[in-house]
Amino acid sequence: MNQMGNTAGPGIEVFHHIADLRVALSRARNEGRSIGCVMTMGALHLGHASLINAAVNESDVVVVTVFVNPTQFGPHEDLAAYPRTLDADCSLAYTHGAAIVFAPSVEEMYPGGIGQRHTTIHVDTVSERLCGESRPGHFDGVSTVVTKLFGIVGPCTAYFGKKDAQQLAVIRALTRDLSLPVEIVGCPIVRESDGLALSSRNQYLTGPERQAAPGIALALFGAADRIEAGECEAASIVASVTSDLAEIPGTRIDYVELVDAETFQRIERVEADAVLAVAVFFGGARLIDNVHIAVAGDDITIDRGRSLPTEEP
Ligand code: AMP
Repeated sequence: MNQMGNTAGPGIEVFHHIADLRVALSRARNEGRSIGCVMTMGALHLGHASLINAAVNESDVVVVTVFVNPTQFGPHEDLAAYPRTLDADCSLAYTHGAAIVFAPSVEEMYPGGIGQRHTTIHVDTVSERLCGESRPGHFDGVSTVVTKLFGIVGPCTAYFGKKDAQQLAVIRALTRDLSLPVEIVGCPIVRESDGLALSSRNQYLTGPERQAAPGIALALFGAADRIEAGECEAASIVASVTSDLAEIPGTRIDYVELVDAETFQRIERVEADAVLAVAVFFGGARLIDNVHIAVAGDDITIDRGRSLPTEEP
């Protein structure tokens, strides 16, 4: 606890105002300490924790931002329902070694109001398809808030999950295009022991939906096995994932796409690094997942993420 921060969790400084955070961080910077940043919308879980762990390993001071950013939600999406659990988030961040939580209000982040009244960052091409198509304006909201948070926190390194593969590609593009002085690190997807990718939105699943949800990862893993065995035609890979997803009770497929890992444009064959990505509606939840396909000559390596150990009964 110091004069500017409030301690909500044990021993972690929590800032709600940009000016106060900047004072604390410029002190750290003047002492020569490196700053790592993990940007989140809160409702933290072990997927977020893996990002914090990576940041703590490589940075002197780790800042976790917790902000449910309204500009990345569409008018009929779950902005109001999105879980808000700041005290628990502070405890998790502290347990994993973060020094600071920055949890601003909407007014603090958007003093000019939201809607048409604030400057927006738009990343071309990478933002266009997949989630960009299903959620118009989503990536403008993400790009804008991430750019603002880079300006506010000034991290040397920022850590993002490969779970949101398109978001990571958008952030890499904006950092490159705007020459921002920050290194972007992508961290593997953390999955439950049954394969379901951890997500704050998994809380929306009913019991039967939760039981069926690992089918999303299994459809991707099945395709990954076929790609490793030599299948490289996008049409056939996409068709097999689509038919596996269609077997899962209670789902509606939003998209199944095989895209170039950098541009997120469709590819016809796996010849360079690619992402096989899906989005699926499950009752009130929209879940996304992917596997990353790395191609080096004739070698293909597929990053399926890593699963948590099964809990002891
Ligand atoms: P969110 O709070 O959902 O906006 O996510 C904040 C950050 O955590 C993003 O960089 C996400 O990609 C990352 N993240 C969320 N879930 C996972 C997961 N299961 N594994 C790894 N990273 C994740």
